[in-house]
Amino acid sequence: MTDNSPLCTYAYETQRLQTLADYRILDTPEESAFDDIVEVASLICEAPISVINFIDRDRQWFKSEKGLGVRETPLDISICAHAILQPGLFIIPDTTLDPRFANNPLVTGEPHLRFYAGALLESQDGYPLGTLCVLDYQPRELSERQRFALQALANQVMAHLELMQAHREQAELIRELETARHDLAKRAATDPLTGLLNRRAFEQRLNQEVALMQRGAPPAALMLIDLDLFKTVNDTLGHQAGDEVLVRFTELCREVFRQADVIGRWGGEEFVVMLPRSSVAEAHLAAERLHQILATTAMLDDISPPLYITASIGICSLTGSSNLDECLQKTDELLYQAKDQGRNRTVCEPQGTPPQH
Ligand code: GH3
Ligand code: MG
Ligand code: MG
Repeated sequence: MTDNSPLCTYAYETQRLQTLADYRILDTPEESAFDDIVEVASLICEAPISVINFIDRDRQWFKSEKGLGVRETPLDISICAHAILQPGLFIIPDTTLDPRFANNPLVTGEPHLRFYAGALLESQDGYPLGTLCVLDYQPRELSERQRFALQALANQVMAHLELMQAHREQAELIRELETARHDLAKRAATDPLTGLLNRRAFEQRLNQEVALMQRGAPPAALMLIDLDLFKTVNDTLGHQAGDEVLVRFTELCREVFRQADVIGRWGGEEFVVMLPRSSVAEAHLAAERLHQILATTAMLDDISPPLYITASIGICSLTGSSNLDECLQKTDELLYQAKDQGRNRTVCEPQGTPPQH
């Protein structure tokens, strides 16, 4: 394949169009930064028409234009499409004398363009994307200074595009970093087996809740749950089966507790639940629901006989004046009272009349 073969040209044009698309300038609204450049080009070159145009697949599209009144025209009558075929400035002093443009409808009819000067807009990797051009109704020339200014302004258009692209890439990078940071924080706060908050993250939530209660939020209840005789599950059915039970137990907890309740894995086969805006009595009712669902739901039903488990639970109240360590210790003691009393039960911090059920 030679450099001039159609395939090579096609590949080049595909790449050029991709480069243009990557600048994400096509079909964007007018912007004063580009309008100013067009105004200055028109002023310096003393030309009634000035345009920043990009050569798309089948149209030329104007980011900014002065004196034309349209934002795109078909490519087959484009003068700029010729201009991007060569580096630097492309000047046609009199279009009627140039065989490439003498029959162009923009020359033979309205708006009767006679003069064209375009400075190439070139991507950093050398692809011609369009031009900054000035046009006139009279045949004429550009002075050296005007040529220099037109090319310098074209360079400014590209510098601005590059900056916009860099800014976009930076914003994208910041977004990706934020997402990664968020994922990392989530992973650091999550128990990998059950997907529940781990102990550290749960303690953080607990501290936040106590802070809220210090500012007037209603009291909460704190619950510690320990699965009964869990070691025997591992010992008889294997660690893998034990893991499945922990996951299944987590699912049941999600069914039993409210959306607002915060469930954490305290460690091993111990779980912790904080029930905001709940009395000890209300939390006790939730604990009873948990005992109930454990009594009726097999944790592993693909074995014979199916495996059921029980849990022992301690419940304490949590207020704005609670010392968290003391509160957790008290709940732990209540849990162990439940163990001592024969397991599969809940022991609450004593307060007033127990709930009727
Ligand atoms: P108790 O009723 O007194 O709480 O008895 P228990 O057997 O539940 O308590 P013990 O502390 O003797 O044993 C807890 C068991 O939990 C031992 C440990 O191997 C198991 N365990 C802790 N974490 C995991 C885990 O992530 N996966 C599995 N499969 N087992 C775990
Ligand atoms: Mg335990
Ligand atoms: Mg246990």
